[in-house]
Amino acid sequence: MTKHIFVTGGVVSSLGKGLTSASIGMLLENRGLRVRMQKLDPYINVDPGTMSPYQHGEVYVLDDGSETDLDLGHYERFTNSPLTRDSNYTTGQIYLAVINKERRGEFLGQTVQVIPHITNEIKHVLGKLAGDDVDVVITEIGGTVGDIESQPFLEAIRQYALDVGKENCVYIHLTLVPYLKAAGELKTKPTQHSVGLLRQIGIQPDVLICRTERLLSHDERAKIALFCNVPIEAVIDEKDKEFSIYEVPMSLSDNRLDELIIRKLGLEAGPLDLTDWRELLDRLHHPRHRVRIAVVGKYAEHHDAYKSIYEALGHGGIDHRAEVHIERIHSEAVEKQGAETLLSEVDGILVPGGFGERGIEGKVQAIQFARQQGIPFFGICLGMQCAVIEFGRHVIGLDGAQSTEFDKKTPHPVICLLDEQKNIVDMGGTMRLGAQPAALAPDSKARECYGRDDVSERHRHRYEFNNDYRRSFVEAGMSFAGTSPDGGLVEIVELADHPWFVAVQFHPEFKSQPTRPHPLFAGFIGAAVQRREQRSGQAEKAERV
Ligand code: GLN
Repeated sequence: MTKHIFVTGGVVSSLGKGLTSASIGMLLENRGLRVRMQKLDPYINVDPGTMSPYQHGEVYVLDDGSETDLDLGHYERFTNSPLTRDSNYTTGQIYLAVINKERRGEFLGQTVQVIPHITNEIKHVLGKLAGDDVDVVITEIGGTVGDIESQPFLEAIRQYALDVGKENCVYIHLTLVPYLKAAGELKTKPTQHSVGLLRQIGIQPDVLICRTERLLSHDERAKIALFCNVPIEAVIDEKDKEFSIYEVPMSLSDNRLDELIIRKLGLEAGPLDLTDWRELLDRLHHPRHRVRIAVVGKYAEHHDAYKSIYEALGHGGIDHRAEVHIERIHSEAVEKQGAETLLSEVDGILVPGGFGERGIEGKVQAIQFARQQGIPFFGICLGMQCAVIEFGRHVIGLDGAQSTEFDKKTPHPVICLLDEQKNIVDMGGTMRLGAQPAALAPDSKARECYGRDDVSERHRHRYEFNNDYRRSFVEAGMSFAGTSPDGGLVEIVELADHPWFVAVQFHPEFKSQPTRPHPLFAGFIGAAVQRREQRSGQAEKAERV
């Protein structure tokens, strides 16, 4: 029988519920359990694909093409649980399903209500991941206890224990225990209130994970235990991690959280073996190199917009024992101040994906600078399209070369709409999405990094390289290092006469793990390390002279 863990959050948002859920998944998987992860989001959009990255951060794409919440990125970085469309549901999807059923007449004669129709639909999706091949499903409930939007989800997880048996469910509540400087103490009252709200709806948490700046004393834990009706060993503190998010599983296992869950659910599990994880933390703590990487994007100030890219750069660093210092550069700042001012000192330049015209010229200037100065360059999705525009304009001399996303009447549409996109009008879930195969060219940098001829990577785009221009690009020195297997779509472009210039139409950042860095991110950081070493060698020589 599959067991269920429900993770809720209280007091404030952004407590790192996703990270904590992912870490729990990682610990249980490490102990030999078969885990599935799921997130339920209370907003009404059907998926985050139609939201601005300012609102919601990055849209995380799965192999099956679903556009999901960025917490699913944590799940995939920490665990090997296969994620699918069933791993992320929103209020919008739940209501849409219920309304469609109502229209089909499935509830004939009934008044359709939140309880039981909406809650039944939620319980249906809670059960979707359970099965003979699954020991534990971890379901994270988005939002904060007390939000109007979360109510039906909380009601559904309460009812779920009645359906499957209380002994098969664990409720974990994440809260904040703030430290008040003026009083010189940690305050437990917000936690008491938050648990009070949960208990009002009939959920008694089994475990409290208290996010805090300072470790809780025995007395503070005892107080929380008493007021919240939780055994003292189930009051766990999770201190802010200054160094790395990859330390979270360690501190949870130090607090014996995995043991607690396994005991409560009556599971049989193997011992914990954190050798791999310790090795990666050791690499992070004791780097041998340092590199500076500029990420030139249009949401530079909002770090969640490029979450997986920042993580994947870090993974590339782990691979080379390099500390990666990321400089978030606004592409509009490049337009104003010039690439040289902002990018002269970096060891690598990455231009990420995006939509819309704002900031495009700054990205093109950054790429031109990387190309001309021989700075390692990695372009992703829109970053690749900008690399093509830059090369078209400045190397081939196609004046005004542009993507038709930004200028429908450009004289040189080097990037144009995919054929399959031409008749699509709806915006939600209609791009070229999810895993698609690509064939790599022999002797390319991509082939060298991956160490294989065929790969599968995740996509999210409407525009592509315009095949009418293939000949002139190849003749001018841009090579197509990867294409769709039939050769029809350009997937990777490279410059042979450059130390490392690779740009891809897909999103490799979604498939990078700290213990298995993505080959292209590893290759890019490797090239940046090389450049840094060459430059410091030259500087030393110059000093001696
Ligand atoms: N806007 C571009 C397109 O739709 C790039 C998309 C992206 O970077 N994800 O093709």
